[in-house]
Amino acid sequence: NAKFSGRGTAAFYSAAMDAELRERREIESELRYAVLRSQLSMVFQPLFDATSGLCSGYEALMRWKHPQWGNVSPSVFIPVAEETGIIVPIGEWAMREACRVASTWDDGLAVAVNVSAIQFRFPNLVDMIASALDESGLEPHRLELEITETSLLKDRNTTLATLLRLKALGVHVVMDDFGTGYSSLSNLHSFPFDKIKIDRSFISEMEESDSARAIVKAIIGLGKSLDLPVVAEGIETFGQHRMVVEDGCEQLQGFLLGKPKSEGEVEILSGIRNLPTYRRRG
Ligand code: C2E
Ligand code: MG
Ligand code: MG
Ligand code: MG
Repeated sequence: NAKFSGRGTAAFYSAAMDAELRERREIESELRYAVLRSQLSMVFQPLFDATSGLCSGYEALMRWKHPQWGNVSPSVFIPVAEETGIIVPIGEWAMREACRVASTWDDGLAVAVNVSAIQFRFPNLVDMIASALDESGLEPHRLELEITETSLLKDRNTTLATLLRLKALGVHVVMDDFGTGYSSLSNLHSFPFDKIKIDRSFISEMEESDSARAIVKAIIGLGKSLDLPVVAEGIETFGQHRMVVEDGCEQLQGFLLGKPKSEGEVEILSGIRNLPTYRRRG
């Protein structure tokens, strides 16, 4: 193979880039048919109320099981889906599926669905979400849209108009991965968010790093001043759990408290959802 004949770094890098490009193209062409071939599914990771310990809802997360490759991580296929625009149809599928599943749950439980920046550029996003609510019968106030900060960078006026139309439907909007974007504070100020989700990176470092802990505290304080509840995502240890509760975080999520579950598993759990699940562990 001429590409790997070792004729210096330039050839090496170009071969590596070729391989990466090929991989992306392969993912792209396979992903295009993933919905039709029923390879996608949604799993649901519980969110807990910090004070009561009760499950307050679930975040819907997409899973892709390819017949040859097995499970492909969202951190691999979501970026490809965003670059190629495939996120629009699969994001629509995810929204309808999440609403359908959540409509079978108890009234009290919310469902959070991740919405990508690219989906915001399509004018029919609001109609699509309205129709997903309509078809499923899910009450709008039980739907939360998780939007990462980077989604907000382009076209702020259009984004704001879209967010206002979404809120007029009665759904809630959550700023996901807070603290990692370019202009967190101004985004919080300019857009009508209902909740802030602290990025996992701060939670995972807060036990070792005083500055990560300080940032977590500051975000929770900011939430209190703005009257916005704050969620801590990615809680993996008892130490992190203790800290975020001490700091006054309203909602909790993480592998320590509950991993993503299938539709069927949630259905079984919903029968016993009044148990303070995370306090019963350990
Ligand atoms: P995200 O929205 O910030 O979701 C949280 C991610 O952190 C999920 O990964 C979840 O499984 C993981 N997580 C939760 N708790 C813990 C923990 O305690 N430890 C660790 N190590 N991880 C934890 P997942 O499912 O792999 O998704 C990754 C990202 O892909 C999501 O980040 C979201 O940005 C995107 N994504 C997933 N599903 C969808 C979807 O349906 N639509 C869109 N647009 N994006 C999606
Ligand atoms: Mg999320
Ligand atoms: Mg997140
Ligand atoms: Mg995240």
